[in-house]
Amino acid sequence: MDVIRLLPDSVANQIAAGEVIQRPASCLKELVENSLDAGATRIQIIVRDAGRTLLQVIDNGQGMSETDARMAFERHATSKIREAADLFNLRTMGFRGEALPSICAVAQVEVLTRRAEDEVGTLLEIHGSQVVRQEPATCPVGTNMKVKNLFFNIPVRRKFLKTDQTELRNLLSEFYRIVLVWPQVQFTFVHNDEIMHELPEASFKQRIEQVFGKPGKPTFTLNLVDIHTETELVTIRGLVGKPEAAGRGARQYFFVNGRFMRHPYFHKAVMTAYTNLLTGDQEPSYFICMEVNPENIDVNIHPTKTEIKFQDEQPIFQILLATVREALGKFNVAPSLDFDREGYVEMPTPNASSTYRPANRLPIQVDTSYNPFTRTHERPAAAPANWQSLYEPQLPQEEKDKPTIPSDIYQYHGRYLLVPSSEGLMLVDQHRAHTHVLYKTYIDQLSHGQAPVQQLLFPEVLDLSADDMLLFATIAEDLRHIGFDIEQLGPRQYSISGVPSLLSGQDPISTLQHILSSVRETGTTATDVWRRRIALALAADTAIPYGKTLTPAEKEDLISQLFHLSDYRYTEDGKTIISVLTDEELAGKF
Ligand code: ADP
Ligand code: MG
Repeated sequence: MDVIRLLPDSVANQIAAGEVIQRPASCLKELVENSLDAGATRIQIIVRDAGRTLLQVIDNGQGMSETDARMAFERHATSKIREAADLFNLRTMGFRGEALPSICAVAQVEVLTRRAEDEVGTLLEIHGSQVVRQEPATCPVGTNMKVKNLFFNIPVRRKFLKTDQTELRNLLSEFYRIVLVWPQVQFTFVHNDEIMHELPEASFKQRIEQVFGKPGKPTFTLNLVDIHTETELVTIRGLVGKPEAAGRGARQYFFVNGRFMRHPYFHKAVMTAYTNLLTGDQEPSYFICMEVNPENIDVNIHPTKTEIKFQDEQPIFQILLATVREALGKFNVAPSLDFDREGYVEMPTPNASSTYRPANRLPIQVDTSYNPFTRTHERPAAAPANWQSLYEPQLPQEEKDKPTIPSDIYQYHGRYLLVPSSEGLMLVDQHRAHTHVLYKTYIDQLSHGQAPVQQLLFPEVLDLSADDMLLFATIAEDLRHIGFDIEQLGPRQYSISGVPSLLSGQDPISTLQHILSSVRETGTTATDVWRRRIALALAADTAIPYGKTLTPAEKEDLISQLFHLSDYRYTEDGKTIISVLTDEELAGKF
């Protein structure tokens, strides 16, 4: 008996939908990209309940004929490629003809569309792949696509959706990835009758400001410098953040041939250009558009993937690195950069953050393979020898005496504490050590409630972008736990009337921005992940900075607090706190 049967189309479409349409954001992406492919210059997005009940995209593009409207929902129906060879020469966004059949398999879709040359348009209604209505209709030129009750027929997937706040944030980040590279197109984004974004036609730079700037204050792009290079292989254009603005809500975007992409390798190129210009957890914003010959990239990948494979990654890495470096140098943001001495470790001088001038000092021998600014999360293979036998604070059952903290701690370059131990010379990174100590305190406060609050004499106002507002609302309670006295002021504003007492002296706005950007990166809803991020960001901001000279008592305090933690060798994000130079190693140097 034959057992192989063809799947009915509706089933095949549902399976495909599982891959192409994972959540409202992926549906939105497909719809808007279709509008752009259709040459629209004005695109309106109307969303209800974070896309659960309605996702509507209205464009003024070329529209569809009656037959095309019907065809568009057939599997692999596309007007964009005709043969396999076309796949390698793609400039449009969609090319598989998979999106619309997938969407209509899992939702109730209503299309209203008309071409300029037609008197009358078409209304088409499809519920779960079944056409339930098709009739002539009067409508403007363009396409009006309503996707209602996404996953209405797949309860499992409906359940799988996150909270409205999270899904809305996903929608917005998808929206940003598109609108940033289409500044010449006018966009509106409305959620539950509230206009979240109204973006008139603009330049690339203006569009960035429209999206990420705060209302009324064009400040975001003031902190960016232009980059531009044209080579045989690649054209690079865009904007990169000044180092002094790094860490305050970094936004990082790569686009290739008008498409958003993730590219960890090119990200590394950008970060390398900032070597020695950033400290701690700071990250610069960047908006980098690349143009390459489409034959040299592989876009025939999974429709939802944003990774793109380049043929010439290494040369492009070098070109990108040089381009960003040149821009940072040209705008005098890095006057003292010495590009030929990669391993040179620059010690930031206190109170000179805006000039990046190394202090006058005697020439010192530097281990060129060690760079404290390297953002590596790798742990060294071998843990330091058991130097901790000296202290052993982690063995409470033995009721040991408190570890004896040596009083001859030496502070080196405002950066490391040199602590003698029986195993050798311990080098303690002072900022990381304190960050770790504070992190433990904050994590504790987050789970056990009230932390000491210091009221501000003059409350401050935190202005937020639309997507950050949502994120902030979700972490507001945790922030209160940790000692922030905050209240929502307006649709995009919070007032800050008190801060954690440990924070005194810091700019609360910049700290909250830092926390936000740190939380934003996780892209998860898991509370404990957020809390770790919040605690870590706050700890990093309140910890003793590099360059601060410590009194003998402060040095002892810090070391003793550190050694009282059960895990004191690495920070929560995996950075080394303590490194030991053994006696043998020392002897070997002579
Ligand atoms: P693809 O975009 O990969 O071709 P889709 O399933 O997204 O596949 O769309 C199928 C076809 O429907 C497109 O090729 C296009 O011809 C037509 N289409 C979809 N959306 C629009 C729109 N907003 N305006 C005009 N035509 C559209
Ligand atoms: Mg498409």
